[in-house]
Amino acid sequence: MNNQSLRQAAAALFPGGVNSPVRSYRSVGGDPVPVARGQGAIVEDLDGRRYIDYVGGFGPAILGHAHPAVTAAIAEAAAEGLTFGALGPREVALADAIRAATGLERLRFLNSGTEATMTAIRIARAATGRELVVKFDGCYHGHSDGLLVRAGSGVATLGMSDSAGVPQAIAGLTAVLPYNDSDALAAWFAAHPADTAAVIVESVPANVGILRPDPAFLAALQSLPRQHGALLIADEIITGFRLTRGLSGMLPAADLVTLGKIIGGGLPIGAIGGPAALLGLLAPEGPVYQAGTFSANPAVMAAGLATLQQLTPEAYTRLETIARHLENGLQVAIKRTGAAATVVRLGSMLSLFFLPAPPRDYTDARRADTAAFARFHRAMRDRGILIPPSQFETWFVSLAHNESEIDATVRAAAEALTEALPA
Ligand code: PMP
Repeated sequence: MNNQSLRQAAAALFPGGVNSPVRSYRSVGGDPVPVARGQGAIVEDLDGRRYIDYVGGFGPAILGHAHPAVTAAIAEAAAEGLTFGALGPREVALADAIRAATGLERLRFLNSGTEATMTAIRIARAATGRELVVKFDGCYHGHSDGLLVRAGSGVATLGMSDSAGVPQAIAGLTAVLPYNDSDALAAWFAAHPADTAAVIVESVPANVGILRPDPAFLAALQSLPRQHGALLIADEIITGFRLTRGLSGMLPAADLVTLGKIIGGGLPIGAIGGPAALLGLLAPEGPVYQAGTFSANPAVMAAGLATLQQLTPEAYTRLETIARHLENGLQVAIKRTGAAATVVRLGSMLSLFFLPAPPRDYTDARRADTAAFARFHRAMRDRGILIPPSQFETWFVSLAHNESEIDATVRAAAEALTEALPA
């Protein structure tokens, strides 16, 4: 099999030739790069071409690909049996490590971020006896029915779904507000003082590219829901263990936290964390049902634990240094080429927006020149640099990226920016 024959076989088997939509490269065009293997910061396609990778599996690969400590831990767990449907020692070890790093009192492990946010909302509805949920325009929390709801162009209306197949009766329970807009949140609670179960928000929105949270907005998130008897759910599925060893620190007053990605070390995971009283609402202790054949699977727990063991304070210092190096190089390239582009970086998460200034919300982000991004993406791919195939996905720098790989990326970006400039 080579790239082309694999893509052809996949096109016949899978809708859009993929098992998750962004992998199809529809928003950047051209043939998607299939990946046969990865090692460190490098991935290799089926034609033997190598790329410096900033997709990072869309977030989990903070150590780089195939870290030997992680693959050894998985092999050891696999040799002891893959799934028992029973409590085991590795889930306790991983939960202990997460609790120590985050202060979350109790946890439930699930199999994806989608499951975590969906269940967190179920807990919030049970805890409050209310049904409405507030989310923010452009924040992604997975693909459960009630969370696939878009904005009414910045208006605090009850939502319509972005997806076919979601009943209006379900979408209508989710309100979508503009991000970074404390007034809109206050207006929502003024109009609906006693029927909101939860406000859910990405601690740092990273699914429209990165939006920098405004401190006043973070303060409003931590006070308004509480004043009105609603819970705050901090979605840290990307940011958990990405920015520091533990939670992002953006929303210390959150009632419930969802985690995923890094804590699974590259295998499928989600988690909900929070105080004993709220987590105790979950079955079998409480009335909120949630279950999973593969939940807390031993191989996943082993991969997560091995990953967390590598994430020392020095690791985050190193990530900051290497990601700053990339940011600075990109800034220089932008200046030199005169491209109308902006870099937004937080720790090892980075966005290059084809916008003149950092976006404050999704309305701003949507103004990005996606055609220029598509040209940039193709020009980077031609030079052996793999960035996420959408203007609205975040680049991830890993501990495996070294200075020479960053320098090569910056050199490629300087040329690619020139190619991306409007003709
Ligand atoms: N929340 C956030 C912030 C995410 O970025 C994602 C996935 N990218 C999810 C939830 C859903 O996680 P999963 O894809 O594991 O279902």
